[in-house]
Amino acid sequence: MTLFPATGTPQRQTGVGIDFWTVLARIGQMVGGDRVSLPVEETTHVPITPLGPNTGRYRSRAVRAVVRPRTADDVRGIVELFADSGIAASLHAYGTGANWGLGSREPARDGAVVLDLSGLDRIRDIDVAQGWAVLEPGVTQARLATLLEGTERMVNLTASSAHTSVVGNALDRGVGLRHQRVEDLMGLEVVLPDGESVRVGWWPEPDRPTPVYAHGLGPSLVQLFVQSDLGVVTAATVRLLPRPEALRVVRLNFTPDRTEAATAAVRRWVAQGLTSGVVKIYNEAAARAYGSPPGRCLVHVCVDGTPEAVQALTGVVTAEATRSGLFTEVSDSDATDPDTPHHDIAVQVERAYAGDPDPTDTLFETKTGHSAGTLDKEGGILLFLPLVPFTGPALARVGELLEQVLAETGIRCGATLNALNADVVDCVVTMRFAREDEHATANAHRALNRLYTLFTAEGFIPYRLDVEHTGWAGRLTAGTGERALAQRLKDLLDPQQVIAPGRYA
Ligand SMILES: Cc1cc2nc3c(=O)[nH]c(=O)nc-3n(C[C@H](O)[C@H](O)[C@H](O)COP(=O)(O)OP(=O)(O)OC[C@H]3O[C@@H](n4cnc5c(N)ncnc54)[C@H](O)[C@@H]3O)c2cc1C
Repeated sequence: MTLFPATGTPQRQTGVGIDFWTVLARIGQMVGGDRVSLPVEETTHVPITPLGPNTGRYRSRAVRAVVRPRTADDVRGIVELFADSGIAASLHAYGTGANWGLGSREPARDGAVVLDLSGLDRIRDIDVAQGWAVLEPGVTQARLATLLEGTERMVNLTASSAHTSVVGNALDRGVGLRHQRVEDLMGLEVVLPDGESVRVGWWPEPDRPTPVYAHGLGPSLVQLFVQSDLGVVTAATVRLLPRPEALRVVRLNFTPDRTEAATAAVRRWVAQGLTSGVVKIYNEAAARAYGSPPGRCLVHVCVDGTPEAVQALTGVVTAEATRSGLFTEVSDSDATDPDTPHHDIAVQVERAYAGDPDPTDTLFETKTGHSAGTLDKEGGILLFLPLVPFTGPALARVGELLEQVLAETGIRCGATLNALNADVVDCVVTMRFAREDEHATANAHRALNRLYTLFTAEGFIPYRLDVEHTGWAGRLTAGTGERALAQRLKDLLDPQQVIAPGRYA
């Protein structure tokens, strides 16, 4: 990786005009030359991407430069320079760039300048009593959670590394252990394609404590900038959740042949309000990372509230589960009994539901085999994320489709079913492969392609896309005129295509 000098003439790059270099030189002066990286040109004239490898082994995009601004003002200045110069290059932004399995830091298309916003890492303001924080995109879930330790508020954590971005994850509609993260986005500070910075949704007012509510009056604009190519987000107001007084995670195991009946039973508990947060159901392959024996699927049912409520609900759920005869094991004491074989993992799981992350990423490393810092270089992981109706037959069908993919490609997929509510499941399909083995890598990508084809044919449509399947956004949206409207907005707000198009376009 070469560093762009703060002063002096930048090295010329094949095929890129002087205007681009003038813009880049000005950016270098604005943010500091050491915060701009360029691709290295090899003797073969194939530039080596400054983004480095990605764990999915998706094709590395030809990136023109990576810029690492430190402030929202830097971002505003950079976007304005791009807009004013009229150069044919677009900006792709990320927070901590840990979009593992979906492309990590890669933009959708070649030729982008990448904005690495991990340096915008200020928690600008926080009000524990009212339940909000103003976060920049580089703020990790571990940092925010540490600040909230011992308070009456908590963060809606994901099961990814503790060192991933709260805002970045929410902007791709990530899913936390309490609910989908977009539900926590109350307001956004966005740099529009012409360089203007606007705030939409709810923002704190210094003189009067208004209730934290995202929609305001009139059209609600926060979601316009989620999975969006209409702006670069420089900060967000994020809801902090009330911390439950008590919390328990009940563990259930069942055999795969009981999938339809067991998931239908769990769905009834969700529909009747017995559970809190996202109920998780792991297929055999995914359950292994949590210590379940071969041949067993796993369910984590979280209950929380006052201590008395938790005791009562734990009793109801375990009694229901035992009475159903569907589960091979029913346990509510893994986290409290140090003698159970599942104790350490169960403690981690309960802590995560309670908003208390593990900064050492023990469980994350068990699942991936790598640390957050080395995963992109050493690990091979692909993700496929469809939504599936929360019914026994639909979830049994998921199992059949995964068996078909196994038969066709030899790839055994892990599947975690995250119940977003009583009707919709976020189905996280995971494929692990040996990244140094070209055949295994090609096979995993073949399996990913089959997943897109097979699942979407059933109506199980993904809610997030990897960088190689961005074209599916157009194919999968019903022909209701919505995409044409989105295109009109894009043309209106960004006629020069300053913000990287293509991620969900
Ligand atoms: C073992 C494992 C477990 C995982 N568990 C979960 C889980 O529980 N839930 C989950 O959701 N994911 C999970 N993931 C996937 C992924 O790691 C997380 O979603 C992670 O939070 C995404 O990385 P990030 O936070 O750095 O987001 P980023 O990579 O920074 O951002 C994601 C995308 O959002 C957009 N974006 C980000 N910032 C901006 C901005 N400022 N302006 C405009 N657009 C922006 C870009 O399109 C970017 O590609 C898991 C992955 C693994 C390997």
